Amino acid sequence: MPEIPDLENVKSFLEQHILGVAVQGAETPRGWVIRYPTALEFVRTLEGDAVQSIARRGKFLLFSLRSGHLLAINSMLTGRLQYREGQPKKVHKRTNFILHLADGHDLLYYDQKSMGKVYLVPADRLDLIPNFSKMGPDALEMSLLEFQERLRKRRGMVKPILTDAEFIAGIGNAYADEILWEARVHPHKNAASLSVEEVERLHSAIGSVLRWAIGIVGEEMRCDIDRKIRDFLRVHRKGGEPCPRCSHTISEIAVRERVTSFCRQCQPEVPQHHLGLRSGRAGGEASAAQTAS
Ligand SMILES: [Zn+2]
Repeated sequence: MPEIPDLENVKSFLEQHILGVAVQGAETPRGWVIRYPTALEFVRTLEGDAVQSIARRGKFLLFSLRSGHLLAINSMLTGRLQYREGQPKKVHKRTNFILHLADGHDLLYYDQKSMGKVYLVPADRLDLIPNFSKMGPDALEMSLLEFQERLRKRRGMVKPILTDAEFIAGIGNAYADEILWEARVHPHKNAASLSVEEVERLHSAIGSVLRWAIGIVGEEMRCDIDRKIRDFLRVHRKGGEPCPRCSHTISEIAVRERVTSFCRQCQPEVPQHHLGLRSGRAGGEASAAQTAS
């Protein structure tokens, strides 16, 4: 599933290649991912139009068009944008729509499961996109204070909270695992039981992991914007391999198709100071939490 590191790079790439280039024609071979308007209106509106700017909000890419419309794409699990020289001999068999650009390139969208959601709405009618206004703050923009306050109202396991777009927008299953590993927080830990330090580490890991990944994905992606680049991740889907931090074997739990990978050694379910494992600060000074327990 495209997450922030993928989408930020798709956005940067397309900003360099499609801005101001007129759409000469559009096709919708599998138009049912277009939730609004009809596929026919979608084609009519886009023809002759041009993308003026691109933004990202959570897992949505938002293309502002010269006509005052907004093309909003949420790729969900398997949707991908693709940028190619025009008139390719073969297109992906699951291609949902194609925009033929005046400079001879095509912008295509294909989706293995056709679960993606595409909307073409007047720029001031974002209310036509279900749940768009319910989206929480973007993961790259949420302050520590906001994170602490929003988390205080939550109960239940921390991982599903991180992937809940109403809580924080833009994090999916893969990067939630990476963030939790970086922060040394067990994915099943109850949000209400997180220590102040754990909440701070989580917030800091959201920014650092996503920015680190944006850099790596950008280097590997180049013009293949539909490529899924995940091989560099440190824990997600690395079950059975040694943890890059402590060498303990990484655990993997699958619920339906959702995999959770984590290290039981550096992401313990019981806080480390309860096990007497937590080390004090430099100079052997015990932390307040250690002294208190
Ligand atoms: Zn570890």
